[in-house]
Amino acid sequence: MNKKKCIFLDRDGTINVYKELLHKQEDIELEKNAAEAIKMINDSDFICIVISNQPVVARNLCSLEEAWNINRKLEELLYKENGSYLDDIFICPHHPDKGYPEENKEYKIDCDCRKPKIGMILEAAKKHNIDLSKSYMVGDTTIDIMTGKNAGLQTILVKTGLAGQDKIFNVNANFVKDDLLKAIKKLLEDDFNAKLKCRNME
Ligand SMILES: [Zn+2]
Repeated sequence: MNKKKCIFLDRDGTINVYKELLHKQEDIELEKNAAEAIKMINDSDFICIVISNQPVVARNLCSLEEAWNINRKLEELLYKENGSYLDDIFICPHHPDKGYPEENKEYKIDCDCRKPKIGMILEAAKKHNIDLSKSYMVGDTTIDIMTGKNAGLQTILVKTGLAGQDKIFNVNANFVKDDLLKAIKKLLEDDFNAKLKCRNME
């Protein structure tokens, strides 16, 4: 069976407008053009999977169930706008730094899924039979780009959200684009040209 190609997407600051420690579903708001970008992925031969760090759970700003309600709300907004959809969503609810009085101790662990670790990508690759060498990571932080590189993916930094200004890692993306729509257009164009080149060489 042919392996699938995947575009892994960060959530906050990439698909929805960045708000610090977003933890209420009424606060979620789509980035302009994000639904159009995801629709383009849906119409291509890529699947699209969100991988998102949600330390708001470990910090006890919301429960794991509430964090998932935010994801459902995001899917609802996308669907309402143009019928676009996400093929899957993975979140890391953990955070490694212990010692805050209000924290949720169950999730205060040094896990394998928190980006830039690649636990969520490996899990997704296994579940959906993904060829990582033909897949991409798109996000607004150096953490996303580092995650993509750690997993052997092509990477695109978008200038929405934190626009790479988190500066946690000194790392360069393969491309930098203004927003998700421009990133997806570039990526699909490159993929198309690569296919064309392959065909011409046959
Ligand atoms: Zn985790």
